[in-house]
Amino acid sequence: MSDIQIVEAPAGVEGSGFFATSLDKAIGMARANSLWPLPFATSCCGIEFMATMASTYDLSRFGAERLSFSPRQADLLMVMGTISKKMGPVLRQVYLQMAEPRWVMAVGACASSGGIFDTYSVLQGIDEIIPVDVYVPGCPPRPEGIIDGFMAIQKLVRTESLRRREEPQYQELLAKYGIQ
Ligand code: SF4
Repeated sequence: MSDIQIVEAPAGVEGSGFFATSLDKAIGMARANSLWPLPFATSCCGIEFMATMASTYDLSRFGAERLSFSPRQADLLMVMGTISKKMGPVLRQVYLQMAEPRWVMAVGACASSGGIFDTYSVLQGIDEIIPVDVYVPGCPPRPEGIIDGFMAIQKLVRTESLRRREEPQYQELLAKYGIQ
C-alpha cells in the first residue's frame, strides 16, 4: 500500500461520477495547500526554520516549499527571531507590501513576546505593530512546533470566509494598527 496521502476533500455532496462543494471551500483547500511563506528570520529561531525546511521535516509536504523573499509574492509572513525596535518599521513595511489575503505567524518567544530580551531596544512582541494569526511557543520551538503552528495557519486558511477581509471586524483590526 502506498504511504502517499491525498489532501482531504472539502465537505460537499458526492455521488457516482460527481462531487459538488461551495466555492469558498474549494478555494480554502487550494490556498491552505499552496501557501507561500516569507521567512523573516533574524536570529536563532530561523535556524530551526531551516531544519523545518530540510529533508527530515520537509515543509514542502504541506505545499509550502516555495519560499518567497519578495512580499508581493508571499501570503504567509513567518517572523522568527528577536525583532529590535529599529527593525520594527522594516517588518511592518514588509507586511504592508503583502497582498491580501495574508497571514502572520509569530515563531518563538522573541517574535511572540520579546522573549528573554525585556530591554529598551527589543519589541515586546510583533503584535505591537502588525496583527498576528498564530503564535508558536518555545525558545526555540522545535521543527515539530513550527509545523504545528503551520498546520494551525492551514486550518485558518481552509475555513476562512472569502469575505473575511471585507468584514468590518477585519477592517477594525487593521485600523487598530493604523493600516488602511
Ligand atoms: S525565541 Fe529563543 S531561540 Fe528564538 S530567537 Fe529568541 S532567543 Fe533565539
